[in-house]
Amino acid sequence: MTDAHLRRPVVTPAAGRYETMSYRRCGRSGLLLPSVSLGLWWNFGAVDPHEVSRAMILRAFDLGITHFDLANNYGPPPGSAEETLGRVLREDLRAYRDEMIISSKAGWRMWPGPYGDWGSRKYLIASLDQSLKRMGIDYVDIYYHHRPDPDTPLEESMAALDQIARSGKAIYVGVSSYGPEDTRRAAKLLGELGTPFVIHQPRYNMFDRWIEHGLLDALDDIGIGCVVFSPLAQGLLTDRYLAGIAADSRAAKPHILFGADRVTQDKLDKARRLSEVARARGQNLAQMAMVWTLRHPQVTSAVIGASRVSQIDEAVGALNNMAFADDELRVIDTILAS
Ligand code: NDP
Repeated sequence: MTDAHLRRPVVTPAAGRYETMSYRRCGRSGLLLPSVSLGLWWNFGAVDPHEVSRAMILRAFDLGITHFDLANNYGPPPGSAEETLGRVLREDLRAYRDEMIISSKAGWRMWPGPYGDWGSRKYLIASLDQSLKRMGIDYVDIYYHHRPDPDTPLEESMAALDQIARSGKAIYVGVSSYGPEDTRRAAKLLGELGTPFVIHQPRYNMFDRWIEHGLLDALDDIGIGCVVFSPLAQGLLTDRYLAGIAADSRAAKPHILFGADRVTQDKLDKARRLSEVARARGQNLAQMAMVWTLRHPQVTSAVIGASRVSQIDEAVGALNNMAFADDELRVIDTILAS
């Protein structure tokens, strides 16, 4: 079958897509998320070739990755990653919206002036309306407050999330990068309002283990899950930089805020040693680093970034070996602490 308007075959997702993926329950909610999710922070903007972004989204969906993570400011330019997803939905996946979990966020600077940043009711509500237009959808599945705002009362930001959920524009709500105490306070406020607060989105990887010091316990107590971002430390926990900084890598792209100075000798030494541990498990470093984040029951999904289809294939392939022997964990800890 062809679509006359697009002059290319209409996409038919792989029939076995739900057999390749495992799905994990998000806290004590009804929401199941794929163990691997795809994030559209970089490589899905208007500066990137649409056919590559499209191929990654379609491949992810074919592999059972039902969850696509966005934010108002992803691009560049900001907003264009949502437009890319919107175009793929419109041209390729429009029949599959109900099989997808699409998230967006607001909390970082998006437009000039006092109403396009942080956590006011004005910003969170207006920004979601913009996101929905860019994606061409009526609702998101998860809407996050993207970062804590030290100046806006938490009551106000949480009341905005509550209103958004009640208006039908988000099915679930979450918070991102909130510390343990703010997360507990948010849960109390949202619990009193009866808001469907089911998820947190913190950074977590072998080089940044802050969630092990209080947040995981808070998630347990509250009964919510989390999707961890940058599980590969933006590529440092892969074999990408072991032979130098390739021209097509994230560290070499001038429009990405991840400069070559982040690729330090210390990180490379650790990556090299971790890579050997991974090889002994029959994985590469990217694969081991990703499944390592999933060893906590509170971690529902690891949201990876990708610049090519093969990276998504590798992430899903890693799910065949998610178990860690105590010895392996000890060796990993020793390398990281060295
Ligand atoms: P990762 O840590 O997964 O880094 C992704 C990068 O790692 C890719 O772009 C690629 O680099 C490299 N990579 C991925 N797979 C492989 C592989 N198999 N082999 C070698 N290199 C590989 O995640 P991100 O930092 O991109 O974050 C993921 C998502 O998390 C974002 O898209 C976003 O949705 C979310 N996020 C949320 C934040 C928040 O505040 N809530 C903040 C940041 C991210 P290369 O491009 O060089 O090929």
